[in-house]
Amino acid sequence: MAKVLILGAGVAGHTAALHAKRMLGKENEIIVISPNSKYNWIPSNIWVGVGKMSADQVTFPLAPVYAKKGITFHQALAQEIHPEGDATTDSGFVQVTYTDSARNGEVAKIEYDFLVNATGPKLNFAATPGLGPDGHTVSVCTYGHAIEAAHSLKEVISVMKTGKRQAIAIGVGHGTCTCEGAAFEYTFNVEHELRAAGVRDLADITYITNEYELGDFGVGGMVFSQQGFQTSSKMWTESLFRERNIKAILGAHVEKIEPNEVHYELVDGTKDILKFDFAMLLPPFRGVDLKAFDKSGADISEKIFAPSGFMKVDADYSGKPYEEWLASDWPKTYRNPLYPNVFAVGIAFAPPHQISKPRKSPNGTLIAPSPPRTGMPSGIMGKTAILSIRELIKSGNGASVASASMSDMGAACVASAGTGLRGGSAASMTMYPVVPDYVKYPNTGRSTDDTYGEIGLAGHWIKLLLHYMFIYKAKGRFGWFLIPE
Ligand SMILES: Cc1cc2nc3c(=O)[nH]c(=O)nc-3n(C[C@H](O)[C@H](O)[C@H](O)COP(=O)(O)OP(=O)(O)OC[C@H]3O[C@@H](n4cnc5c(N)ncnc54)[C@H](O)[C@@H]3O)c2cc1C
Repeated sequence: MAKVLILGAGVAGHTAALHAKRMLGKENEIIVISPNSKYNWIPSNIWVGVGKMSADQVTFPLAPVYAKKGITFHQALAQEIHPEGDATTDSGFVQVTYTDSARNGEVAKIEYDFLVNATGPKLNFAATPGLGPDGHTVSVCTYGHAIEAAHSLKEVISVMKTGKRQAIAIGVGHGTCTCEGAAFEYTFNVEHELRAAGVRDLADITYITNEYELGDFGVGGMVFSQQGFQTSSKMWTESLFRERNIKAILGAHVEKIEPNEVHYELVDGTKDILKFDFAMLLPPFRGVDLKAFDKSGADISEKIFAPSGFMKVDADYSGKPYEEWLASDWPKTYRNPLYPNVFAVGIAFAPPHQISKPRKSPNGTLIAPSPPRTGMPSGIMGKTAILSIRELIKSGNGASVASASMSDMGAACVASAGTGLRGGSAASMTMYPVVPDYVKYPNTGRSTDDTYGEIGLAGHWIKLLLHYMFIYKAKGRFGWFLIPE
């Protein structure tokens, strides 16, 4: 019997856990470690952040799902990985600290034969002084943050209802942030809510981003096919912003936040201040605080993790110049090169380089959107790791393992506003592949047939449908595995 230990119960880890139970069955033990008692369908936090969905609609308790499936669940925080064991055991193990009320603070060692690190991001608010819910801005990264954001938004709306103008800032809070698509979607939603509340005329909305151009989204922008014509995500997004009278500050690194003020530097080195009454700025991500130790107890974290804290996998980390990177530098199997029974999937794996061109201001400030690892690729990676583990259990170390590179994978982004069936609208984009492959697609790096953008109610319906479908799937209900990642 093999022990498959999965760290994290988000999109990648939870998908991996459900597939592991289904594929590896009764003979093997599937164990999940995650510090939160609940699953959170994060994409719908956007709707929580404008007061259109409740926390209960985007979360559910994990323990009953795992109990029903026969998956062992430890509500705990993984802190140390010991891939070679220690003086007492030759088996790899993870040291965890429990977070549930019964065992809070208790430390334990959990052994594994195969480890899947799906711990997602550490929300690194600390990188920008004053950023985040402990500072002066709100966030929608967790459902708790999103509830606070909705309260703050309600407050500025009530101020506007007294006839007073309010300044709204939405975007990313550091030059190296990722997830610009989420900030873009939240901008749309807030604008929609302000119109619905009848106060749009009293709001000055500014989108502040590290993207050099609108429509970059951390993937270097896209060339779309739209109704038979080609257009760029830049033109498309610019027209959406113009139609909605939303200003944009581009190529910005947010240096610090002070009460009602965003201090930022632009790519050209100039510095300025954006005043706000309400600001939702996403934090930069880094790997969670995991350390690794060898059998003697020596700290090997630097060998296993990249400087960003994300785990190294089968990617090219040689650090070659941006202009020289290739789609083939991206990982395929998500196995750690030193410990091939250890996988890192979803946001937890270290990308080999940026997809968007990184830039430096004359002052040496890096303004470089990080590559997004969105829901669909994260789920696919989780499943891929399990397919590989199945082969490794069956055929041993020489088995041929599964592969799923982001340079051979599509992604969809639906920025939807409003939650009703008739009042919503969405900007929907799909791209294939996520990581451009200029060898295969010399002109744009992507297939223009499979990369497109669409505006309208249909995209909004899809987003709403995806919300219910993915929660159904995550609950492991009848036929869940038929719903694609
Ligand atoms: C506001 C917002 C909106 C988004 N909208 C979209 C969208 O519309 N479409 C889309 O495709 N993507 C969207 N994304 C991105 C999507 O949420 C991520 O791609 C996805 O959540 C990544 O999955 P993951 O499993 O890697 O990380 P997560 O889903 O963040 O899961 C990480 C898990 O690890 C756990 N964990 C953390 N530390 C530890 C530890 N030390 N030990 C054990 N467990 C740990 C966490 O509690 C969590 O359960 C959005 C993201 C945000 C923030």
